[in-house]
Amino acid sequence: MMKTITVFKGDGIGPEIVDAVLNILNAAQVPLNYEIFEVGEAEYKRNGKLIPDAAYASFEKNKVLLKAPITTPIGKGFRSLNVTLRKKYDLYANIRPAKSNAAIKTLFSNVDIITFRENTEDLYVGVEEQIDENTVYATKIITKKASERIIKDAFEYAKKHGRKKVTCVHKANILKMSDGMFLNIFKEIAQAYPEIESDDKIVDNTCMQLVMHPEKFDVIVTPNLYGDIISDLTSGLIGGLGLLPSCNLGSEYAMFEAVHGSAPDIAGKNIANPTALLWSACMMLDNLDMQSYATRIRKAVDEVLLESRCLTPDINGNATTKQYCEAIIEKL
Ligand code: ATP
Repeated sequence: MMKTITVFKGDGIGPEIVDAVLNILNAAQVPLNYEIFEVGEAEYKRNGKLIPDAAYASFEKNKVLLKAPITTPIGKGFRSLNVTLRKKYDLYANIRPAKSNAAIKTLFSNVDIITFRENTEDLYVGVEEQIDENTVYATKIITKKASERIIKDAFEYAKKHGRKKVTCVHKANILKMSDGMFLNIFKEIAQAYPEIESDDKIVDNTCMQLVMHPEKFDVIVTPNLYGDIISDLTSGLIGGLGLLPSCNLGSEYAMFEAVHGSAPDIAGKNIANPTALLWSACMMLDNLDMQSYATRIRKAVDEVLLESRCLTPDINGNATTKQYCEAIIEKL
């Protein structure tokens, strides 16, 4: 049965990688229709709106969004579009799987870490206050409700997918009340999952352990800011930002996007790596019960990566985005 989804093309490398991904999905004959919208800085300059009303309406109708990176214009009055979307649609679980790929040579070949990043609060509520000329306060919010649901999701995921351990990452030794509450809730919920090992680590120690012994980590659950930083670190362990997909799930809506930003330094050069967005699209297909298409696409990508003949420059190749995309389509 055909399903319709919403697609945001975004800024920077966004349009190039969206075109590449849609070409691959079409070549795989995925039964999807697309409602495609220009959003972000470029759209703001054209039509005075960062996200057109019709784009919001489409997402509200279809409930599923494949989103390219978008640039929030710098300056007063612009709240990050990513943060806005996550908050507006209560996309509270940001799930970021970092898995070594046999074809991408990195220091470690055994990384398989999935980060559950709380997506709606922490310092990302964006509440900052100028106290005086030399002082600014920023508000960090941690609530029981948001902490409980992301921690439960992490354990439920671990249970469903046969993962062995869930690690809570925090800074409760300093932020005793906020992170302290997150950690206490974690410990409480962990008791309901005796079959899954659980532990906790302070965020700075986590960074050191991750770059020395990534094999010690399985599922990570953590508040918003640490999740943002740690998941970029995990992308570095598997070969870079061009390879890290993500999904943002709420109880009603789902948004799928690459972890990286709009990469203005390489925009328009036809050298961006579309893999992170393509793998995000595969997570979307899994979510839509279209696993067989996702499996076929992942297999084609793996074959192209393994052959190493047609890779984009960020993973030591010299192919263009289009050539890489054509190589995947050929495998399909
Ligand atoms: P944001 O703040 O929105 O996350 P950023 O400016 O911190 O964005 P990115 O836009 O993610 O960071 O880019 C960081 C670096 O990684 C840049 O040098 C960019 O060219 C590179 N990069 C990001 N995504 C890709 C990609 N898909 N393919 C190749 N290189 C990429």
